[in-house]
Amino acid sequence: MKRTLLLLAICCILSDLGRTQVTAIRAGKLVDPDAGTVLSDQVILIRDSKIEKVGKGIDIPVNARIIDLSQMTVLPGLIDCHTHLADGARSGDPLNQFRKTGAQIALESVPNARAMIESGFTTVRDVGTYRALGDIALRDAINRGDIVGPRMFVAGAYVTISGGAGALTGQAPDIQLPWDLHYGEANSPWEVRRVIRQLAHDGADHIKVLSSGAVLTHGSNPKSQEFTLEELQAAVDEASHFGLRVEAHAHSPEGIKNAIRAGVASVEHATMIDDEGIALAKQRGTYLDMDIYDEECIQEDEKKGSVPADFLEHDAQLGQIQRENFRKAVAAGVKMSFGTDAGVCAYGTSAKQFAFMVRYGMTPMQAIQAATTSAADLLGRAGEIGSIKPGKYADIIAVSGDPIANIQVLEQVRFVMKDGKIHKRE
Ligand SMILES: [Zn+2]
Repeated sequence: MKRTLLLLAICCILSDLGRTQVTAIRAGKLVDPDAGTVLSDQVILIRDSKIEKVGKGIDIPVNARIIDLSQMTVLPGLIDCHTHLADGARSGDPLNQFRKTGAQIALESVPNARAMIESGFTTVRDVGTYRALGDIALRDAINRGDIVGPRMFVAGAYVTISGGAGALTGQAPDIQLPWDLHYGEANSPWEVRRVIRQLAHDGADHIKVLSSGAVLTHGSNPKSQEFTLEELQAAVDEASHFGLRVEAHAHSPEGIKNAIRAGVASVEHATMIDDEGIALAKQRGTYLDMDIYDEECIQEDEKKGSVPADFLEHDAQLGQIQRENFRKAVAAGVKMSFGTDAGVCAYGTSAKQFAFMVRYGMTPMQAIQAATTSAADLLGRAGEIGSIKPGKYADIIAVSGDPIANIQVLEQVRFVMKDGKIHKRE
């Protein structure tokens, strides 16, 4: 009997040793976006997927794996709050969706996820896909470890009016779309509720509604209003029944204000936000998720001739207007998150937006906070991600040089860890 107990005890100890991996990272500099400070000579102790301790002169257990980043600046994994990873390879025209099967789109999306995490983005809020639920499949494949990618929080589909900003448009009216290309269409408050109920059932993490027209949609006008205030209120209310937050795409001033009044968590693009909209966002604590870099990519693609002519017409002047409004919103103290519309620019290049956020009014620390603490707060995950603190996931990156002195060093991430697992080390 005694012998059995002893064997059991040894067995438990051995299996525990086999399960637990302790890692110690020596960080030369450590950015703490919670406090807005940069610490030096820190040790980060990680047990399995979580951070256990952070500080100076912490005892490192003898069995720990040691990662020496003492010549680098260490930051929490970055978060992009506006991506479209599940739409397959980048293509200028959504009508290209008709040239591919769902399986092709899904497999083409695998490298998008890899590019994202290898560039330092360990989490994304993915805000819609043309083929409904492809993002859910991508998220789940990453979570199972089948493929490499960031922690994904996904929308499942676009909730949009028929022919609206989130619909697949431009085809002849007599073409019947398959179910997954018009899953999120809704044309009344009750239809909005029906679609959201279905999305919640199918595994969405949040809800994406389209409040105004879009730039990159055929037959759409970004200056127009799409969903009514009543429909947006129905969306926020219905989503709340499932514990889900709502983000609203909006370019036009009224589309933006309706979304804020309805109680969305964030307004995407917020291109033509006016002074009243800025005041409302500030008063309601609504995040603005402004993708102020991607005008560069639209112009680059224009030179290559790969942007449809009607998209360019929609886009005229809007890029600069959005950047000036970003500056105003930052100055007014509105909550700002980091979102790039990844897919408009190449996957893996999101960090290029940091320099533009600094150019248009943020300090480098504010730009980093937008992509870490603020983004985590917007996702409702501030207790799990967004900074390097005990109890949070070990999502950690490192760069050479000082991002506070030169924000562009974030464009060259040298080390990436997610969940305590190393995904890149140069
Ligand atoms: Zn988008």
